[in-house]
Amino acid sequence: MSSLFANKVVAVTGAGSGIGRAISLGLARQGATVHLADRNAEGLTETADLIGAEDGKATITELDVSSENELAGWIEQIGSTSGRLDAAFNNAGITGPAKRIEDYPLEEFRRVIAVNLQSVFLGMKYQIPLMKRGGAGSIVNTASVAALTGPGGMSAYAASKHGVQGLTRVVAMENAAHGIRVNAIAPGWTETPMVAANSKQNPGFAALAQNAIPAKRGGTPEEIAAAAIWLASDAASYVTGHMLTVDGGMTIGGFEL
Ligand code: NAD
Repeated sequence: MSSLFANKVVAVTGAGSGIGRAISLGLARQGATVHLADRNAEGLTETADLIGAEDGKATITELDVSSENELAGWIEQIGSTSGRLDAAFNNAGITGPAKRIEDYPLEEFRRVIAVNLQSVFLGMKYQIPLMKRGGAGSIVNTASVAALTGPGGMSAYAASKHGVQGLTRVVAMENAAHGIRVNAIAPGWTETPMVAANSKQNPGFAALAQNAIPAKRGGTPEEIAAAAIWLASDAASYVTGHMLTVDGGMTIGGFEL
């Protein structure tokens, strides 16, 4: 087991489930002190218990990532308890309803943008000064293949994830000379508990979706986490402003012969 994160302090949002939980566990296994945030207190406790069972170090904070007060307070608290921040994963997100644009309610659009995009803006706004104080840092934002494609019915989600890529590039540009790297991951179809439960309920749709993926299967949260953790680690020390797709080939395009 490598220990690229020994003695490092990291922050993860959406840590109560799925990809965020896998990132948190992976980081703790590599020696990091992990600060976990989510709006789901039960999920947070479960993640912290999994980390604790392996003698890892985690703290939990229940918050809404779209709230400036709550996010700023969390980062301030990390600064005062751990004294620094080496890496941050702005990962919490929601899909929103699936509706054509003419039927898409504005308040739903605003909610998805607030949770998926405003949260990444706010996260970085408060993480960057703390990282600058320590003279280095690395941020990984969770986008999606919907940052590259136009999935019908998902206007707010795709707009939010395209926005995450834009924010990632801007903040990477602004901080490259300060030793802070900023990247994104773009997961494809990932078998988080929610996706797995939907697949069980609707196996026909799941089979269709999986057959459209060149790898012929969905990814695991651990496979997405591995890419995110690599991007945040010193192993990726010259990678910044990049969005790494982790999608089993979903966005290759073209056809197999
Ligand atoms: P998930 O639902 O398992 O986990 C998301 C977590 O974010 C949950 O614990 C939830 O409570 C938390 N969350 C949601 N809104 C929040 C808020 N306002 N404040 C605080 N926490 C909040 O889903 P996941 O698949 O692990 O998603 C993680 C990220 O990956 C999301 O940004 C999602 O858009 C992205 N993603 C997922 C897939 C996929 O197929 N699962 C594909 C591409 C991108």
